[in-house]
Amino acid sequence: MKSSEIRKHFLDFFKSKEHQIVASAPMVIKDDPTLMFTNAGMNQFKEFFLGNGVPKSNRISDTQKCLRVSGKHNDLEEVGKDTYHHTMFEMLGNWSFGDYFKKDAIAWAWELLTEVYKIDKDILYVTVFEGSEEDGLPLDQEAYDLWKQIIPEDRIILGNKKDNFWEMGDQGPCGPSSEIHVDIRSEEEKAKLPGKDLVNKDHPLVVEIWNLVFMEFNRKADKSLEKLPAKHVDTGMGFERLCMVLQGVKSNYDTDVFTPLIREIETISGSKYGKEEKTDIAIRVIADHVRAVSFSIADGQLPSNNGAGYVIRRILRRAIRYGFTFLGQKEPFIYRLVDVLSKKMGNAFPELKEQKQLIQNVIKEEEHSFLRTLDQGLVLLDNVMEATKGKKIAGEKAFELYDTYGFPLDLTQLIAEENNFEIDEKGFEKKMEEQKSRSRAAAEVATEDWTVLLDDETEEFIGYDYLEASVKITRYRKVSSKKDGDMYQLVFNMTPFYPEGGGQVGDKGYLEVPNGDVVYILDTKRENNLIIHFAKNLPKHIGETMKAVVDRKQRERTAANHTATHLLHQALREVLGTHVEQKGSAVHSKYLRFDFSHFSKLTLEELRDVENFVNARIEGKLPLQEQRNIPMETAIEEGAMALFGEKYGDTVRTIRFGNSIELCGGTHVKNTADIWHFKIRSEGAVAAGIRRIEAITSDATREFYFENNRVFYEMRDLLKNPKDPVKAISSLQEENESLRKQIATLLKDKAKNLKGDLKSQLEEINGVQFLASRVDLDPGKLKDLAFELGNEVDNLFILFAAEDNGKALLTCYISKDLANERGYNAGQVVRELGKFIQGGGGGQPFFATAGGKNPGGIPEALDKVKEYIS
Ligand code: ATP
Ligand code: MG
Repeated sequence: MKSSEIRKHFLDFFKSKEHQIVASAPMVIKDDPTLMFTNAGMNQFKEFFLGNGVPKSNRISDTQKCLRVSGKHNDLEEVGKDTYHHTMFEMLGNWSFGDYFKKDAIAWAWELLTEVYKIDKDILYVTVFEGSEEDGLPLDQEAYDLWKQIIPEDRIILGNKKDNFWEMGDQGPCGPSSEIHVDIRSEEEKAKLPGKDLVNKDHPLVVEIWNLVFMEFNRKADKSLEKLPAKHVDTGMGFERLCMVLQGVKSNYDTDVFTPLIREIETISGSKYGKEEKTDIAIRVIADHVRAVSFSIADGQLPSNNGAGYVIRRILRRAIRYGFTFLGQKEPFIYRLVDVLSKKMGNAFPELKEQKQLIQNVIKEEEHSFLRTLDQGLVLLDNVMEATKGKKIAGEKAFELYDTYGFPLDLTQLIAEENNFEIDEKGFEKKMEEQKSRSRAAAEVATEDWTVLLDDETEEFIGYDYLEASVKITRYRKVSSKKDGDMYQLVFNMTPFYPEGGGQVGDKGYLEVPNGDVVYILDTKRENNLIIHFAKNLPKHIGETMKAVVDRKQRERTAANHTATHLLHQALREVLGTHVEQKGSAVHSKYLRFDFSHFSKLTLEELRDVENFVNARIEGKLPLQEQRNIPMETAIEEGAMALFGEKYGDTVRTIRFGNSIELCGGTHVKNTADIWHFKIRSEGAVAAGIRRIEAITSDATREFYFENNRVFYEMRDLLKNPKDPVKAISSLQEENESLRKQIATLLKDKAKNLKGDLKSQLEEINGVQFLASRVDLDPGKLKDLAFELGNEVDNLFILFAAEDNGKALLTCYISKDLANERGYNAGQVVRELGKFIQGGGGGQPFFATAGGKNPGGIPEALDKVKEYIS
């Protein structure tokens, strides 16, 4: 059965059991600070389990893109080494929200596996939660009895908390689970040892395929369990593992989900899969990681230097390294796999097809730059080996390579071994541990449980219409971290404060308590269904009604920037073409930033057209037309731009100014005239195929023009008030250019004379043409001079010393033959003489340089060098 059919049968089956089929939520999570990536199908439904929201249907089924590379579920190090863990995988799931429970969940799972997919019952085992003393929970008798009616008792295995109690994270919904495992070993192997003994023992051919979780509890911050308001079912089946079973193969990588990718890697690299373990691991790593990275980029998460983007960058770099080290790939090649991937999965996940070009460009660019870094790292490693006395490289050096160049220990070891060096692993581990504990300490956050004052689950947002309101605090908690100290998070019954989202910053403002006390709200953020206000203190009289006031000035400036962002988006599509798509946006009170797909730098003319387009709409005084809570389909029909990343069940809000219509939750001006003026400050590249514009509006533009004007007058003053300042500057530049040329000629002549001079100063000592001299030139010129002399004179040994900007510089050149025959080493010479100028350096045996901060030591260095040859 083809994988596409396997996926379809799953969804059709649960549709026939009255489940609503929904699309996968994005893999990259944007509105939950506790989670960077979706790690299980249930993530998008978390709030429904907790009772903080109501789903559109109480039975849902889907296939969810998951990524397990950080946090509680992290399989990254296994991936490639084994054959059944991936970074990115699809999780097929069915859910009941307070509807059916264990009986149907178990019966349907069994029916689907054995009757629809026709898996042989004799290869299946199930597990049941044995209970936990720590949590005061008994054996899951109900599940046990249900399974007993289906499967022989000797195929039911009791499992402990680690395997059979599913928790999303340290806090949150959880419950006992029942897993289904397959044993796909050969008959011969099975005869030796029963499969029962291998369940949950990390055997590659006895693996878990489906986990049925019975959600009943909420794990609180103090580790205790609290009963959820209702009982739910949450199941997850690994799609790739299911394909492995149904396609009769022994590895996920031998299913049609992966074989096209593997064939392509073989073609590109000329390495065959299935011949040698090291190569196989590399091929599996690459086939796996290209999926994780491509899906993330399609979800809008580009590789970057922090947060989720950094995780993605590291995954891609891991793949590049494996390709580099084990498949000999020194040029970008991973981006070439995207085509095959999008053909394979683009039907189930159209975002891959639509964004193919972008994904390819981004990956290619990342590959380029990391391969360059690898090259630099190799040079550094060369230098380290040269400077190492003995054959053991310090752990600190290996760690530096890891930390700054992304060289993992195994790669450094491999290269070191090839050069007969080894690495002080203990020293490396020590450095690594030090760094880890530093970042652990910095990241430690203690979150208290909510103190609930008022049982009011729906915190209404009224900030589109009001900037002030009388509110009550419904719950609060303290969050303490090294970074921010103690902070209180407050939730109201309703709020005028806009929570950070859709690129727009959160509102600031204050709370006024009846006695006149004021508590400042420093930021507002959304966490799932709750709007959280951040304050340094807890208000007194916390149970009473208080006045919540949004900082009006900040809000107005932000609104102007948000509306201008929409107009800018429209302008770009109008001026550059409809290939322009929003790739990111940040709306602050002081400026706006907009990232979009486009392949070349904008010309001055294009920038001017874009500005004019936006300013014309500002002058046109277009009124805001807003529609709240309309179904997504209606919005799309009306021409709103659809973005990937909307969650299932969302109704949407549309914002229209003239012909610009967008799905948007942000705050906007009532009329474009309120923006006053729009000005682009900068335009540049952020990644391959992605440009960034930063712009300002309203007050900020006034300041901008004022400041520019001031600079202009100052410059004109400096130019002595010419009539035409532009012409004045260009004639200055011309003059400058011709002077530069003259100087260059003069310097060349001088150098020629200098060379002659120096040659005449050569002294023959023991068959060596020796010269030690002070020559105040810059390092590049000194090097040229030394090499030129080297070409003309045999058996040369030179030391030049120079003073450059208050620093001392030594340059040592030794003819190669001389260095070889007599064992002279320029690197060693400058290292040792470096002490006179209070510095150091290095290089090769025939050429080396050193720098230091004490020019006063130059004469001594020049004096001492003779000792090397006499
Ligand atoms: P394992 O013990 O094999 O790592 P798990 O206990 O972490 O599995 P769950 O969290 O219960 O798995 O996830 C539900 C299902 O998702 C599993 O039964 C398995 O089929 C699949 N699965 C889990 N992790 C991965 C992964 N890294 N790659 C592919 N499939 C996975
Ligand atoms: Mg796992």
